[in-house]
Amino acid sequence: MERLNAWEKYSKADLEKVFTFAEDYRKFISQCKTERECVKRSVEIAEEAGYKNLEDIIRKGKKLKAGDRVYAVNMGKAVVLFNIGKEPIEEGMNILGAHIDSPRLDLKQNPMYEDSDLVLLDTHYYGGIKKYQWVTVPLALHGVVALKDGSVVDISIGEDENDAVVGISDLLIHLSQEQLEKKGNKVVEGEDLNILVGSMPATDAALEFGNVTADNDDDDEDDKKHKVKKYILALLKDKYGIEEEDFLSAEIEAVPAGPARDYGIDRSMIIGYGHDDRVCAYPSLIACINSKKPKKTGVCILVDKEEIGSVGATGMQSKFFEYAVAEVMDRCGQYSELGLKRALRNSQMLSSDVSAAYDPNYASVNEKKNSAYFGRGMVFNKYTGSRGKSGSNDTSAEFMAKMRKVMDDADVAFQTAELGKVDLGGGGTIAYILANYGMNVIDSGVAVQNMHAPHEVISKADLYEALKGYEAFLKCN
Ligand code: MN
Ligand code: MN
Repeated sequence: MERLNAWEKYSKADLEKVFTFAEDYRKFISQCKTERECVKRSVEIAEEAGYKNLEDIIRKGKKLKAGDRVYAVNMGKAVVLFNIGKEPIEEGMNILGAHIDSPRLDLKQNPMYEDSDLVLLDTHYYGGIKKYQWVTVPLALHGVVALKDGSVVDISIGEDENDAVVGISDLLIHLSQEQLEKKGNKVVEGEDLNILVGSMPATDAALEFGNVTADNDDDDEDDKKHKVKKYILALLKDKYGIEEEDFLSAEIEAVPAGPARDYGIDRSMIIGYGHDDRVCAYPSLIACINSKKPKKTGVCILVDKEEIGSVGATGMQSKFFEYAVAEVMDRCGQYSELGLKRALRNSQMLSSDVSAAYDPNYASVNEKKNSAYFGRGMVFNKYTGSRGKSGSNDTSAEFMAKMRKVMDDADVAFQTAELGKVDLGGGGTIAYILANYGMNVIDSGVAVQNMHAPHEVISKADLYEALKGYEAFLKCN
């Protein structure tokens, strides 16, 4: 039972739309490489489309009615958008959910050290990565430094094409005899992921050349010994007004530098950092924005911390979403404890995350009948999990049937898949968390090659079909 390749059905006009949307998306992921950057840009896009900040509505005591559009931000790392529908919210919402955190290297709280006239930043990796993939790749540093005076400084180093990048070294092949005997997960170990950021001592000439002043403390032995570090700190002080101790309250992420690029001689794919899960988050956001005056209240929720278990205040397990629904119902004059419970219980959700794209180079890990293929459209996973479906939200046959009808009626190309062969591995998503309310939730999304590598690959057709699928879902009953 092979599914249709979406490319086969496109007219020339369709292809224009597929490539135009892909270009918007390519720019989005090139610009948004952290959860905070995704939230910031999503809010800009939402405000341009007429969404109002829920906080302001509450503070000003304003009411909400059908047709209104609001958003709420959680600590700058998660965001939820609501399109208020004509039906009472307790009849249920149509919810699109995806995550906007991606695997990366976080700077440690005390990251900086000098060794042999080199300055390095120590990292702690975030999410599941093959560590050996992250060496010899140009990296950029993105994030924030929160200062004691309450201000927050945005950091971005290595994205502008004229900016310098940083990176992690690998051992030269000539001396790698022992390294190459090691198992893959030991070839490069967690504590070896140290980012080289400088090699020039703070001589008087260097300070003058860089047009910066160093904190001079001649009694400080550390200062005298570590002149390269001194120069780096002088540069950081000059550009960002931060000091070494300020790293204690910083969140700085090392991510692959540079923009996402079209991939393939036919430009049918995109290679870039963080497709997991922005390739679902972005079309979810745009589908929500494109939905006008819905019958059912439509929601798009983009969350943080999925890659480490959806934990914490900004992960899906936080009560943020439930509280936001309560606030929206209250502003609509529809709030009661029971009403809120009904609203959640009666909702339905496409929980979107990436699927493993079938890769002829690694065919043996897939079971061909139940794999996701580039170009065959949006992916539905009835279940995820590992081993005996452990950790999975196994949606009902009835809800799967409903989604088949919604997608077929809207001419959306879709396919169904599992994550690889049984017993080879597996993975989880945010689906089971919303399912705890008793709502219908199904895993869906877009297929990705090289998942969790510094540069992942997606098909533009799948991205476009996901957008169409999300739009159709928001309209369904
Ligand atoms: Mn992931
Ligand atoms: Mn994911």
